[in-house]
Amino acid sequence: MQDKTAKFLTGYSCNNYCRFCGDRAYRGIPVKTTQEIMREIKEAKKAGAVDAFFAGGEVTIRPDFFYLLKFAKNIGFQNITLTTNGRFFSYEDFTRRAIEAGISRIIFTINGHNAKLHDYLSQVEGSFKHLKEGIANLRKFGFDNIGTNTVIVKQNYKYLYDIGKLIYRVGIKTACLIYVSSPRDFYKYTPRISTAAYYIRKFLDIGRLDDEVSYAALNVPCLCYFGDYLKQISGTIEENEYSFESTPRLISKNKIEQYENIESKKIINRIKIRKCLFCKIADKCKGVWDIYLKYYGDREIKPIK
Ligand code: SF4
Repeated sequence: MQDKTAKFLTGYSCNNYCRFCGDRAYRGIPVKTTQEIMREIKEAKKAGAVDAFFAGGEVTIRPDFFYLLKFAKNIGFQNITLTTNGRFFSYEDFTRRAIEAGISRIIFTINGHNAKLHDYLSQVEGSFKHLKEGIANLRKFGFDNIGTNTVIVKQNYKYLYDIGKLIYRVGIKTACLIYVSSPRDFYKYTPRISTAAYYIRKFLDIGRLDDEVSYAALNVPCLCYFGDYLKQISGTIEENEYSFESTPRLISKNKIEQYENIESKKIINRIKIRKCLFCKIADKCKGVWDIYLKYYGDREIKPIK
């Protein structure tokens, strides 16, 4: 077992409607039941997992949210991490109960540096305000183990530095960019790497100014523009990140095709092209997204000399 974290996917329901979210098409699939998730938690524990990671959709909107946290804690998971849009944490009582239930780390999704951009992408007016209030509530209870994820899309890449500054200003120490992987709306959301790279590097530079913070980027289509930033970049989709990973819920056999589409990491592969032969970091790089080459070609692929 590479890493002793178990990832639990609880279902696709969400109280935001992020434009770029690849899971929106699956909202109709029922979320997993409490019993199904409890069974997965027990299986993961039995398989030797030590830490738990809950992801949706949006896990906090489940009525059994606190119960599942407590269940995971009581069964012996040490660190319990949650990814969330943060809106429910704007309720002080909700925040207190989540902390009491045993949450250890919270990763908020931040789409923009201000309400205009964040709310535009989440398609919920007030979602940025809720997120900020959520962070403030956690602080009120002395909870500081907070990180952020920001999905890089055409609509926000020019503001990555501003987003990074905001994250730094509110005292969050780990921030992560994730390049959008939305194969069905590729042109609508996927920026060209040659243009986005400058802004990604500016974001990563913030992390270089302070030893106490960690700024990283995952899932960039190629490493060609990040020769000096390799320590902060993941060249591959994290295939082996979890020791136990639950599968999305299926409701019938004819949904299996959807399932294949749901897991973007299953349909975005990396390949090496001829230019890669001349690249200094070819041994470290897993290549370019095949889908990127399909839509944008190889013009931007620049071997590192
Ligand atoms: S190996 Fe290929 S994709 Fe990777 S950085 Fe070099 S040229 Fe770019």
